[in-house]
Amino acid sequence: MTLAFIAHPDCGRHDTGWNHPEHVGRLRAIPRALRQDPQLFERLIHHEPRHATPGELALAHDPAYIERVQRVAVAGGGRLDADTVASEGSWDAACAATGAVLDAIEMTANGRVRRAFCAVRPPGHHALREHAMGFCLFGSVAIGAHYALGGALAQRVLIVDWDVHHGNGTQALVQGDPRIRFVSMHQYPWYPGTGDASEVGPHRTLFNVPMAPGLPAVQYTDALLGAIDRATTGWTPDLVLVSAGFDSLAGDPLGGFTLEMHDVDLLTREIGARADTWCGGRLVSALEGGYHPERLGEACVVHMRALAGFS
Ligand SMILES: [Zn+2]
Repeated sequence: MTLAFIAHPDCGRHDTGWNHPEHVGRLRAIPRALRQDPQLFERLIHHEPRHATPGELALAHDPAYIERVQRVAVAGGGRLDADTVASEGSWDAACAATGAVLDAIEMTANGRVRRAFCAVRPPGHHALREHAMGFCLFGSVAIGAHYALGGALAQRVLIVDWDVHHGNGTQALVQGDPRIRFVSMHQYPWYPGTGDASEVGPHRTLFNVPMAPGLPAVQYTDALLGAIDRATTGWTPDLVLVSAGFDSLAGDPLGGFTLEMHDVDLLTREIGARADTWCGGRLVSALEGGYHPERLGEACVVHMRALAGFS
């Protein structure tokens, strides 16, 4: 299975400071871990993506908000939300992060690769239409879903979010389109406070799986896969997007889930196998959270090995 590894140096220019959990060291841990696996490194299609345009960001965001993010960055940076900061490089970083997802969707549409992993930051799944939230500037995965549908690159998009936090931004940005189904498993109640199972959306396309912290890992993996199967009963996606948040791993400073590397492997292979039957394996994964850099790097390698079908 050909797998693209999509990364852009601009994603390292979103400078939040070393005291912020979402710091650039997270991203640096990924190539460091990848270099320990030359077999995987050599098999990947390495791709530096384009920047998403303001018009593409507007597929999910208010133009005035997009302008505000650019203006704050040009002015040297500032605070966008209680816990979301922007630096001079943040506009370029966020446009590169979204551009990575858009390029990945195109590459899987034109057959260049069947799967892609986007090693990007800032993350996106908390970003709302008109404001930044929870370390996120633009909802890259939600924008990707709208981009794919609008460009006839897909007809039905499944988004799976296993970040330990509810993907409230993605939910808000996709729930109006019945061609998108969103499955999110997350710690609950926990930041950002949303994601109850009763939140099904106007088209009943949201599948929220709230979970207590500290459970045996198999309960998380079974719950997520069960929700994916409910979401896809009688409905077959032709594009699978994964919001891969590795703060669901045991030991993450911002979450209480208990997943280990073999659970990342299991989830990736199970979702990949379903994608094989739905749409020839077509799957695009994008990094969301994950705040223990060494564990994050290792998990990205495990995730990519499983995406590529390595043993
Ligand atoms: Zn998270």
